[in-house]
Amino acid sequence: MTATVSRPDTTPDLRDRVAAVLPVIRDEAAKIDEQAVFPTGGLAALRDSGLMGLLVPAEYGGLGGDLDDLVEVAVALAGECMSTAMIWAMHGQQVAALVAHGTERLRAELLPRIARGEVYVASVTSEKGKGGHLLTAHAPLHRRDGALHLDRDAPIVTGGEHADGFLITVRDAPDAPPDAVSAVYADRSQLEVGTSGSWNPLGMRGTHSGALHLSGRVPDHHLVGSPGQFRTVAVRTFAPAGHVAWAACWLGAARGALRDVLGLLRSPAGRRQFDLGSELLRARLARVRMDLDTMSALLAQCLRDLAGDADPEAVPVQLRLNALKVFTAERSFASVDLLVELTGLRHGYLRDAPLALERRFRDLRSASLNYANDRLLSANGTLALLDRGVSLAW
Ligand SMILES: Cc1cc2nc3c(=O)[nH]c(=O)nc-3n(C[C@H](O)[C@H](O)[C@H](O)COP(=O)(O)OP(=O)(O)OC[C@H]3O[C@@H](n4cnc5c(N)ncnc54)[C@H](O)[C@@H]3O)c2cc1C
Repeated sequence: MTATVSRPDTTPDLRDRVAAVLPVIRDEAAKIDEQAVFPTGGLAALRDSGLMGLLVPAEYGGLGGDLDDLVEVAVALAGECMSTAMIWAMHGQQVAALVAHGTERLRAELLPRIARGEVYVASVTSEKGKGGHLLTAHAPLHRRDGALHLDRDAPIVTGGEHADGFLITVRDAPDAPPDAVSAVYADRSQLEVGTSGSWNPLGMRGTHSGALHLSGRVPDHHLVGSPGQFRTVAVRTFAPAGHVAWAACWLGAARGALRDVLGLLRSPAGRRQFDLGSELLRARLARVRMDLDTMSALLAQCLRDLAGDADPEAVPVQLRLNALKVFTAERSFASVDLLVELTGLRHGYLRDAPLALERRFRDLRSASLNYANDRLLSANGTLALLDRGVSLAW
């Protein structure tokens, strides 16, 4: 199915579920940012709404949604609170990988629990010494007594202290090379989870993405994908779902910012304060709107690229998926920056201004770092050299 971020064919059911959650996360957004704490109310509402199981197939009790639905929900959530949206969207990324690559037994045991909202899954891919590089791992998996043993530092784990389960990348064996990466699912109860350090960042403060140390053992069937073959999981599912989910969050935050600024400008007080006939104001609004439309068009194209039997490994598709991440990270931040400029110090810069542009600005500053844009630009440079015919989509 083709999507835009305001699809008219969104099922009423999905819209109702989202509508039930939005007031909770809106009310909590300022507090979780101020105190850098996890949105416990928002997560509880998301668990109750059924949305934690959005991507779980109906046969396992989930909503049977697809990436179009993921985008729809993430954009709406991020319009109110980007931290909560990112927590939910990254859970969706983990679930997409479990659904597509988990063993039959793991799916049967785990997916119904996710569908019931009992399991929130966090992501553990970053590691000391390799930064964000997705396709290498240092900490090895040990196979002993018919089980998989792991002992791993995890320097930044969104919602890690509150997660019920973890999808973790590891080196496949002590004697395996760093690029023989395996992925393992572990329930919290199967691990010793140690916390270290504090979480006091510029933005995305509500994600509470502090450092963890994870050790424990899981049964063999918790391997997700073939041994040492996480690359396949990453290229076919994990990275595409991640880029689409992150882009939806960043676009949603910028869209929420424009929506709120337009609300102010069109209000009686706004009309008194701002000159809506100003050429400068109109040009700035036009630029923000143009960026939102361009981001949303690229996102819609990537959803089309990933629909049905399309090959996510095709070079033009990889180029667009990486571009989606880089471009939305840059332009969503630039859009909110321009809205700060447009509304000025009182509405745009003060921490307690109702528009919350300042919070969105700080949150969106993380976008280029959340898997370094530089890594993807470097990859896309290589891919661009391979596509001599410059195959574009329209
Ligand atoms: C809000 C937030 C939440 C996060 N949540 C999680 C989570 O839940 N789980 C998780 O595992 N991780 C998480 N991360 C970590 C994230 O995915 C990245 O791994 C991390 O931000 C990268 O950290 P880094 O800058 O140290 O490393 P790197 O990505 O290694 O980058 C280090 C520096 O090297 C540069 N660089 C790297 N590669 C190249 C290249 N090929 N060419 C040129 N320059 C290059 C980068 O630009 C950067 O300046 C989160 C990050 C953020 C910001």
